[in-house]
Amino acid sequence: MSNHPISFDNTEIAFKALSHSELKKASRLFSLFNMEWLVSIGSSVTERLLHMGIPIHVLVKPIIYSHFCGGEDLTECTKLIRALATRNVGVLLNYGVEAKSSDAEYEFSVMQNMQAIELAGKEKNIKAVCIKLTGFGRLGLFEKLQQKQALTSAEEVELKSIHERFDRLCDAALVNQVALYIDAEESWIQDPIDEMTIERMRRVNKKTAIIFNTYQLYRNDKLKDLKADAAKAQSEGFILGAKLVRGAYVEKENEVAKAAGNVSPIHLNKAATDNDFNLALTFCLDHLDTISCCVASHNEHSCLLLTQLLQEKHIPFNHPHISVSQLYGMGDHITYNLSDSGINCTKYVPFGPVKEVIPYLIRRAQENGSVEGQMGREIKLLKKEINRRGI
Ligand SMILES: Cc1cc2nc3c(=O)[nH]c(=O)nc-3n(C[C@H](O)[C@H](O)[C@H](O)COP(=O)(O)OP(=O)(O)OC[C@H]3O[C@@H](n4cnc5c(N)ncnc54)[C@H](O)[C@@H]3O)c2cc1C
Repeated sequence: MSNHPISFDNTEIAFKALSHSELKKASRLFSLFNMEWLVSIGSSVTERLLHMGIPIHVLVKPIIYSHFCGGEDLTECTKLIRALATRNVGVLLNYGVEAKSSDAEYEFSVMQNMQAIELAGKEKNIKAVCIKLTGFGRLGLFEKLQQKQALTSAEEVELKSIHERFDRLCDAALVNQVALYIDAEESWIQDPIDEMTIERMRRVNKKTAIIFNTYQLYRNDKLKDLKADAAKAQSEGFILGAKLVRGAYVEKENEVAKAAGNVSPIHLNKAATDNDFNLALTFCLDHLDTISCCVASHNEHSCLLLTQLLQEKHIPFNHPHISVSQLYGMGDHITYNLSDSGINCTKYVPFGPVKEVIPYLIRRAQENGSVEGQMGREIKLLKKEINRRGI
């Protein structure tokens, strides 16, 4: 347990891993993201050039890709995985290529994830592999499942393939003793993802949490679902793996609900999301015998609340059922200060060919430009460290 009060202002700890030139580069990059007009023009120009087959990866890789991604393949990621280990920070590996649409592509995605799981069996600093189930099957099929529509016989075959792909990865995760985190997606496909994931937890999470579902607390029904799943875990005798996030698709969710004339499943305001996130966190800490929980957030208040609750409830900071995660390239002041206090911390590290990961990078740039306050805070801390070092 930490004996000293935790502060996210300690920039010496936060940016210890960055050389002088890396620190200056990060500061310049975030200052650029802060210019919304530049991000907006840059994103559409990048997408257009990519579409035209112009080799922009030569520019993108050293400037932005290297800041947010581990490498184009697993071999290239190894250096980062080992460097983070020296700072007591684990890795959540994510094959960052977005949804595909053919059987060959789904199989390729399974293969990439399988290799990541096998690498995790050897490189113990890889704490989990993160997957999206829509990487293994057609989006339209997930929608049909959610609406409980009858499937054609061809769709039954498709569904069987999704189950089979998911099972192969779950079995490999169990054999290699690495966690498998299932990302949460849009509300209109989330029910089948939840059902498939809980089904695997029943089978795999008997002794330890291997399979983790993701709970988006910006949804007004997810705190209730978390509690219901915890009750199932308790009565059926498995460990619930729960990754807590606020949720990535606020605008899209609200627009789709509005267009369909439905009430949005998203909380009415950010305060309500924050409230449910913090209640979910408190609930998990009160049920650590049946829940293993990953707090996936860049929100300083929630991360501080975690440390306060651990102290109040006399829970060891390094309890194996608690971890905290931030995206690689962001929130270092949280990750490294929490890791320094003894909490299990990880970075979410995407890997994959530069041109395939560009949509992920564009989202990072847009998010960092538009999240009021957060980016200003990162820039301020980077500048503070530049001044402290006198460089
Ligand atoms: C390791 C990791 C894994 C992740 N995995 C997933 C995943 O599987 N699925 C997923 O959807 N996201 C995922 N995310 C993204 C996450 O959901 C958030 O979008 C992101 O982390 C920002 O939220 P925050 O908790 O860091 O804090 P903050 O920056 O304090 O909160 C921003 C969030 O608050 C919510 N919000 C903002 N405005 C409103 C509003 N007006 N009304 C209601 N809510 C609002 C939104 O969720 C927004 O993203 C992941 C993030 C991390 C770090």
